[in-house]
Amino acid sequence: MKTTTTTNTAKEENAMKTTTTAALEIERKAATARRLAKMRANLTALENEAAAIIAKGDEMTAGDRARLLQLVNVKLHEEGSKIADIFSVDSSAACDFCSAMRRSATDNVLMICGLCYAAADAWKEAAWRRHKLNALIFGTVLFTVEELAALPIGALCRFNEDGDTVNETMARNYIRIAASHPATRFGYWYKNAPAVEAGLKAEGIATRDALPENIRFIHSSMLIGFEARPLWFDDAIFTVYPDEATTAAAIAAGAHECNGRKCRACGFTCYLMQRRQADPLRIAEILRCNKAARAEIVTAYHARRARLAGRA
Ligand code: SF4
Repeated sequence: MKTTTTTNTAKEENAMKTTTTAALEIERKAATARRLAKMRANLTALENEAAAIIAKGDEMTAGDRARLLQLVNVKLHEEGSKIADIFSVDSSAACDFCSAMRRSATDNVLMICGLCYAAADAWKEAAWRRHKLNALIFGTVLFTVEELAALPIGALCRFNEDGDTVNETMARNYIRIAASHPATRFGYWYKNAPAVEAGLKAEGIATRDALPENIRFIHSSMLIGFEARPLWFDDAIFTVYPDEATTAAAIAAGAHECNGRKCRACGFTCYLMQRRQADPLRIAEILRCNKAARAEIVTAYHARRARLAGRA
């Protein structure tokens, strides 16, 4: 009799635990949904505010322009990040340039944009929508050096940790941000070479000697394992290699090793390196992807190398 009573009590306790766990799970999901809805509503309000200011065009006041700069997202990367201690001013992987590059990557597995690390999930949505807002603001409104001095940027800053330069106006704003923060060292990552070159020329910079002293231009290669052709303003060519063997070969041939290193451990090379008059620094990093994708890319890489060798 006593055993039966004990068994019943245990069953009741288990049933209660199951019910409580299910109720807690429902509450947790509801709380997450509420936080996501609030985040999305806040983002929408910011986007609408920026769009309303930009729609004023020539009627925009100095206060409107200052408010737009307050809406720009400037981020200091924290401990644990590859770029800890570095600020970033980003465009977005959802920008027009990156979206077009991802579409064109469907025909070529060697195009790095097809493996973009910045694909959005629900919580990354906050970052990519803020960065897309950056792209809208900097791609539409050309600010003065004095206005841009208000941006809260510290000693080191990366342009385009996410996304790319969308147009000449954005490149001009980036160059002016560097002019407005002379004590900061900037690493300007880019793939959209025509936009960056147009921005430089529109700012009256047409020779290597005239390049801003506090920016280093890091040309990010479009094809996995194949270095981009250096341009007159490049300080470094950054290339992702398909596997350990090809990355090691590039490093053995003189490329700087970026692989899995934190920028701090690397001495912030991309920001602090001396400007070289010729022969930009070559930087190599191994591709991060799954086994199946790597196998396909390695095959495509060697096939292309063989084709190019056959042509030589
Ligand atoms: S080369 Fe160095 S500074 Fe440049 S991205 Fe890699 S780790 Fe950072």
